[in-house]
Amino acid sequence: VSSLLTRHRTFKVLMIGDSGVGKTCLTHRLCAGEFPCRAEATIGVDFRERLVEIDGEKIRLQLWDTAGQERFRKSMVQHYYRNVHAIFFVYDVTSLTSFSGLNSWIEECRQNSLGQDIPKFLVGNKSDLRDPSRANQQVNQQTAMSFAKAHGMMCFETSAKISPNKLSKIPLLRVKHPSSL
Ligand code: GDP
Ligand code: MG
Repeated sequence: VSSLLTRHRTFKVLMIGDSGVGKTCLTHRLCAGEFPCRAEATIGVDFRERLVEIDGEKIRLQLWDTAGQERFRKSMVQHYYRNVHAIFFVYDVTSLTSFSGLNSWIEECRQNSLGQDIPKFLVGNKSDLRDPSRANQQVNQQTAMSFAKAHGMMCFETSAKISPNKLSKIPLLRVKHPSSL
């Protein structure tokens, strides 16, 4: 197990989206391998990281978990987008509002990432709550796919709660949260 103090290339990923879509839970799931029993409201920005091995090289995957509703977001937001390697635009598949809310997040990104061509991903979270009997109140997969295409994003649905097997097979080399350092 390598130490976080060792120098590794850092890969910074930004989690963006409306409050309540599950950004904090996804971050926790990806870095700690579990669904948090209790997610505290994010204040400003928080980050978690883990080491992942890609093509034999250990990379420090750093997930920046942001809060949407903060009054001071405007003054901080430029920092979020600095040196970002990828952006996850997260919505809740059971919330049409969170999906339409993406437009303003994309606009924020456009204004703050000028000159950078950052890979973007559309992430539909809470897929475990998909209910065919309420299909017209939930975000349609085709709609999400064409939205992603129109914005040059890759897209997928996931659940922070029900971990796909693939995820649990990724070895966790080391997990750290800044508050526990
Ligand atoms: P954030 O505001 O985007 O950081 O959202 P949180 O991560 O705090 O999650 C908001 C609420 O959604 C919490 O009550 C979580 O337990 C719940 N939640 C998050 N992800 C999932 C998921 O994949 N499935 C289900 N069923 N609930 C989720
Ligand atoms: Mg949060």
